[in-house]
Order: sequence, then structure tokens, then C-alpha cells
Amino acid sequence: MEIKKENRQWLDAMGLDHPIVIAGPCSAETEEQVLKTAHELKNTDTNVFRAGIWKPRTRPGGFEGVGALGLPWLQKVKEETGMLVTTEVGNANHVELALKHDIDILWIGARTTVNPFVVQEIADALKGVDIPVLVKNPVNPDLPLWLGAVERFKTAGITQLGAIHRGFSTYNSLHYRNKPKWHLAIELKKEFPNLPLILDPSHICGRRDTILDVSQTALDLNYDGFMIETHIDPDKAWSDAAQQITPARLAQITADLRIRKESSTEVEFQRKLNMHRKELDLIDNNIIDVLADRMGIAAEIGKLKHSENVAILQSGRWSDIISKMVELGVAKGLSKEFVEEIFRAIHVESINIQHNVK
Ligand code: PEP
Ligand code: MN
Repeated sequence: MEIKKENRQWLDAMGLDHPIVIAGPCSAETEEQVLKTAHELKNTDTNVFRAGIWKPRTRPGGFEGVGALGLPWLQKVKEETGMLVTTEVGNANHVELALKHDIDILWIGARTTVNPFVVQEIADALKGVDIPVLVKNPVNPDLPLWLGAVERFKTAGITQLGAIHRGFSTYNSLHYRNKPKWHLAIELKKEFPNLPLILDPSHICGRRDTILDVSQTALDLNYDGFMIETHIDPDKAWSDAAQQITPARLAQITADLRIRKESSTEVEFQRKLNMHRKELDLIDNNIIDVLADRMGIAAEIGKLKHSENVAILQSGRWSDIISKMVELGVAKGLSKEFVEEIFRAIHVESINIQHNVK
């Protein structure tokens, strides 16, 4: 199956001058928390506001989300801030409720992507609807599951697609909550070059202090953007407290990221770089030829000197050569030290060659 340019049109049409930023709390907790966070994010690079309404918890007993009660809060975020809104859907009922409340973008969670039955159920619930769907990688490092989920949505008629890389669950990783395993995301990109690829550093890191670093790696790999969990009071968050950051910290992170140039200028940059490298290769080949010729003549001189029993080293002549070459080199913009070093090396090699001829 092919993911085409038109499948990323939803993102390209935004005409952003920076990678897309999806930010907001892990979970919608209260109307006040949602709206306060959204208003603070409005003044950052955030384009899409996220909040989990239904929370898939690995073990029961934790906060499982406010449910449909929170959907009108997201509608208010849209009205009051103008940001688009997104939430996770985990079954057909979630889809129906999300659509009823004008959610702009849906995402499929890592625990859903692992199950083709559920992915198919959600895809079927979306028949006849065209809303962007972002598919998180499955919790286990299984590329075909990730690709397969994207394909199920495409087959169901969804034309606006994207992938979210949130890392892969692992036992006893000191550094990550979910290991990035970058090669899997790179493989996904190879398979579907037009599919927008968004990094979720929050679930990869599981902590606040490494989010910038991991995000920079994604930019260096040409990712299209980020989904970052953001909360007005991260320490008091009802879920994923350790990894959430404040809107102010998010603004600092997006300011600190070094954004790669757009691919069009990059293509031009690569073209010029390749051209200059070819020129250098030709010149380097010429340098070798010229040096080989020069040493061939040195060998002839060595033979002559040997036959006439003349001493090899004629220091007066060498200091003349070096000072002449330095003068010539400096006139052409080369440094004195560089020319001296090169001609000293040539002199030493000449003497060795003359020694060795009989
Ligand atoms: C989330 O984004 O809050 C979430 C539950 O993510 P994941 O599916 O990646 O665990
Ligand atoms: Mn979370």
C-alpha cells in the first residue's frame, strides 16, 4: 500500500514555519485545568491541544479518565483559543462521542495499535468520515503492527494520516520509560515516506529533564513535529505526573530546538555540496599526479647526482624554493605556515627518493 502526498495534506495545508506542536495534559482532569492549560499554550508554538478523555491504564485502579464529561471542555478550548483539539479513541463508542463533540483529530493509543480487531472496529466506525487519524506505535517493537494499523485506516477511507512515535515498552531501562528504538521509526519512514511522523518524547522519556535532547534527535532525523504532555501544575497531575511539563517549559524547549532547514533548500544545499565535492575530488587527483611527477623528476636528479658523486642536500637551493613558494602562496591567499609545511614535506620526500636511487 502507498501513502501518498495527499495523505499529509492536512499537515502541509497548515503552512507552519516550524514542526507541528501538539501539547496538553496527559488527562483532562477538570474544566478549569483544561482551560487554564489551553490558554497558556495558546501563547506558545502549540497548534493542536491534546487531552486524554478515556485513559487506557495498564493496571486497574488508576485514574481512568473523566470520560465523555470532558468532551465539552475540549469544545470550549476550540472556541476560546482557536487551537485544534485531539483526543485518544479506543473503541467505536469513543469515535461516535468524539465526532459528536467536534474533535478535530483522533489518535490511536499504543495499547490499541497492538490489537487489529480493535483497530478494525475503530476504522469501521470512521467509514464515511474524513478526519485526521494519528497512529501511535504499538507498545511492543513490532513494525508490521504499526504499518498494519495505518493501512486499516487508509483502507477504511481515511485520507488524512500520521504516525506518532512514543517508544516501546521495556523492562528495567534506566534511561527511558519506553525505549525509542529509532531504527523502527526510520523503517516506518522508509516504507511510508509521505506519512507525517510525530515524536511523543513524553512517553519515551517518562521524565522532564531529557525531553529536549530526545526531541532534538527527532528533528535531526527529519520528524514532522511533536506531541508533548503539558500541565499547568505537573507535580499534581492525575496521570503521568513525572513526565509532564509546564507551558512555559514547553515554550523554552521549542525555542531551544535547532530546526533543520526545509527539504527544498536542503536539496539545493546537497546539490551544491555534491558539486563542490566532485570538484575537490578532481583537484585532489591532480595533486597526486603532480606530486608523483615531481618525485619522478627528483629521482632523475638523484641518478644524475649519484653518477657525478654530488651531494644530495643543497640547502641554499631549498631555502630559495621555500621562500619563493611562500611568497607565491601568500599572494594567492594561502597561509605562510601551510605552504612551509607542505614544501618541507616535499623536500624531505625528495631527499629520501634521491637517497634510494642508485
Ligand atoms: C497518552 O498519550 O496519554 C497515552 C496514553 O499514550 P500511549 O498510548 O502512547 O501510552
Ligand atoms: Mn500520558
